[in-house]
Amino acid sequence: MGSSTVTRKQIEVQRIVDALSKAIAQHRLRPGTRLIEAQIVEALNANRNHVQSALQRLAMQRIVTIEPNRGALVSQPTAKEARDVFAARRAIEAAVVESITPEAMHQNRQRIAAHMRSERKATSASDRRDIVRELSEFHLLLGAISGNAVLAEILGNLMVRSSLIVALYQRNDHPACASDEHEAIIAALERGDRATAVQVMLEHLDELEGQLALEELAEPEVDLRQILSDP
Ligand SMILES: [Zn+2]
Repeated sequence: MGSSTVTRKQIEVQRIVDALSKAIAQHRLRPGTRLIEAQIVEALNANRNHVQSALQRLAMQRIVTIEPNRGALVSQPTAKEARDVFAARRAIEAAVVESITPEAMHQNRQRIAAHMRSERKATSASDRRDIVRELSEFHLLLGAISGNAVLAEILGNLMVRSSLIVALYQRNDHPACASDEHEAIIAALERGDRATAVQVMLEHLDELEGQLALEELAEPEVDLRQILSDP
């Protein structure tokens, strides 16, 4: 009984973690949103203990922030953290693309084709949530077909944190990713040209980071003595 109870709890905590991560990644839960336990218990038909464990796990992943006496809220990454997340994505996603063999592309060709169709469909329509979801799915799909579960897991965390960063710092209302860069990465991988695929991925990530207003929203360094003494 012991081990099956543990397993059931783990499955249940993971279900709550997944539901919250997904809502955050899709911008249904914005940075700074209070995560009230009782509401999560009700919405997900879950046990309060399990909800608390899920929030703690998300806090360890930096997706949720737990404030003493005030409870949990969706994290609000700083500009410094945003730059660090993009630096980490460059390292991880280069390794992901580097791991994708022409055989993996062939084995997953239907899944890739289906994704590219729904991505094109979403970007030609204008439902921002659909666009955000599909563009982020592309990166996760590459992680999944890389055959490296550790890279895929790290990338999953970085993608949720990227969604928070985009929600906070995106300069304009255009979608973060350009679909044609995704197509270029796929085309290079299908040819077995991983060097080009890595190059396009790195340029793509630089471009995404360039669309963020990290300077303007960085915490200003103010000298209170100067401000308050100057009438
Ligand atoms: Zn992209």
